[in-house]
Amino acid sequence: MVVPASATDRSDPTDVGCAPWPDDDVVQADADAAWAIDLGLVDLVNGAFPSTDPGHGPAEDALACLLERLEDRSRERHRATAAEYDLIFQVIADASADPDPWVGPDPTLDRLWSDPRGRTVTAVRRDRIDMAERAAVAEIAVRLRVAEQTVRARAAHAGILRNRCPRVWAAFVDGRLSERHAVETARLAASLPDGDPGAWAAFDDGALDRALRLSPARFATSARVLRERVHSESIQERHRRARDERGVWLTPDLDGMATVTAYLPADRAAAALTRLDHAARHLAAVDGEERTLAQLRADAFADLLTGTDPAPRSTPGRSGVAVGGTNRPGVVITIPALTLLGADTTPATIDGYGPVDLDTARRLAGEASSWIRLLTHPVTGAPLALDRTVYRVTAALRRWLGVTSPTCAFPGCGRPARECDLDHRRAWSKGGTTDADNLEPECRHHHRMRHETRWTPARDPDTGDLTWTSPLGARIDADPPPF
Ligand SMILES: [Zn+2]
Repeated sequence: MVVPASATDRSDPTDVGCAPWPDDDVVQADADAAWAIDLGLVDLVNGAFPSTDPGHGPAEDALACLLERLEDRSRERHRATAAEYDLIFQVIADASADPDPWVGPDPTLDRLWSDPRGRTVTAVRRDRIDMAERAAVAEIAVRLRVAEQTVRARAAHAGILRNRCPRVWAAFVDGRLSERHAVETARLAASLPDGDPGAWAAFDDGALDRALRLSPARFATSARVLRERVHSESIQERHRRARDERGVWLTPDLDGMATVTAYLPADRAAAALTRLDHAARHLAAVDGEERTLAQLRADAFADLLTGTDPAPRSTPGRSGVAVGGTNRPGVVITIPALTLLGADTTPATIDGYGPVDLDTARRLAGEASSWIRLLTHPVTGAPLALDRTVYRVTAALRRWLGVTSPTCAFPGCGRPARECDLDHRRAWSKGGTTDADNLEPECRHHHRMRHETRWTPARDPDTGDLTWTSPLGARIDADPPPF
């Protein structure tokens, strides 16, 4: 096996990544392979480089052997990934076909049964299937230690490929395609109109041909063009549907930073960016301004959205852009007592974000119109006086729980406590009280799952640790608190 020397000569050295993640290298290798295919250097029938050099010796043979093993391993890896997708798909499909193992026997089969919530038999059965699927997704997620969203996405991708792109699916199962090729194909195929098998088949054929030749990045570009070609709907109709998906989300980053992402109609996104750019350039023209345009745009963005008052120039994180409204957000900050006294360096924590430096915590404490400073005892955590006589969950209690149990109590769920239901561990009617020891934040999804499926939480009376038992009997500890 001889790799053409010019394959390395022509490549831009900056393209050859040394990143720990192999993707860059894989991309380069795939691109080289595609280039070699174009030039006829590669025998497409068996996918191997032809031995064009008759004088190769033992060193080349050994290298060829290593590379063949590499190809084999890569193919095995793709095959194993495809098998994982397939098994996830099957478990969830089984759960919807037979919900009993997940949610218990069907009560509607009993002639004397009547639903306490007044639902019809059809509605109850639909709910059972829905809850069984949720319980199965949660079971897979905690076993594999991945997000439930990841499990759902994998099941959906497998379902779409099996249904709409059987040829690409077969190549994935056979290990001839990478996960990235398969996922991109599924993502694009899912966006084709329902009930248009002609478009699906055309996309399947074209995508397979491209996926076998191109690196994931080039494949994605090429497959998007292909999707345009086979899509029967007008761009207007598609835009109307895509617009329904608009949203904003926050991704925590390292070192006290975070990224806000907004998915918007392109015109509004462009208008928003233009406004930020104008504000930044306006500020940059002021004498003595030392911030870069990128920093000014970021500061203007934060000020416009938080309604911050104008700040002196060159205050980090403040743009000085005058904005309407003076409502400042309420903030919950946990500051360890020893840190405040200067005897320790444990960072302060902002509810919903995580650790921040003490200067930021102090600044927020000074600026926020409503905030709670919770000094925690170095060992036990500070007790909070609570009204134990009322059923209603007070706002103070809800906030306090947001600090000690910052997320939904289900393993792996990151939904912030302030967006959760506060479930009574022991029902109020059975003597449970409304205090921090009897309450657990659960997002609506996991709250329903706990009541309507066989997922059961239990708290160790001695250690206070929370453990969940799955419908199939797996025991999973709740995530430890972040501090
Ligand atoms: Zn949850």
